[in-house]
Amino acid sequence: MKTLEEYLSDAAAAHGHLCAGQVLGVRMAMLGLHKLGLEEPQGKDRKRIVTFVEIDRCATDAVMVVTGCRLGKRALKFRDWGKVAATFVDIETGKAVRIAAKESSKAAAKNLHPEITDKNQQQMLAYREMPTSSCSSPSGCM
Ligand SMILES: [Zn+2]
Repeated sequence: MKTLEEYLSDAAAAHGHLCAGQVLGVRMAMLGLHKLGLEEPQGKDRKRIVTFVEIDRCATDAVMVVTGCRLGKRALKFRDWGKVAATFVDIETGKAVRIAAKESSKAAAKNLHPEITDKNQQQMLAYREMPTSSCSSPSGCM
């Protein structure tokens, strides 16, 4: 697996700009793959990952960059549920993990960096720093 910084620069190139959605998407995908123990999404684990994304916005592009999953390769599935969330499936073991951005992330970003007035800048920085959490809620957490 590459580092957060490396994936962010790949995501910015693929998506056209770096935005808060890229940071979220990269972190969600890195966390999801890590939880499944799939550390080489572009290498030996390439063919065993299928990802379900739930929104057609910025974060989805970043999820594609990290997982290597593409719609045209049938490894990316889109379910239009309007959630910044993705489910990562290891088709070899049948294990899956759903990672979702919390609704409270924006407010948390504001608390973390009140000194930054630009919302996108504020969220980009905060989303890099925010800890991940696991929870048993059916809607999942990040
Ligand atoms: Zn964007």
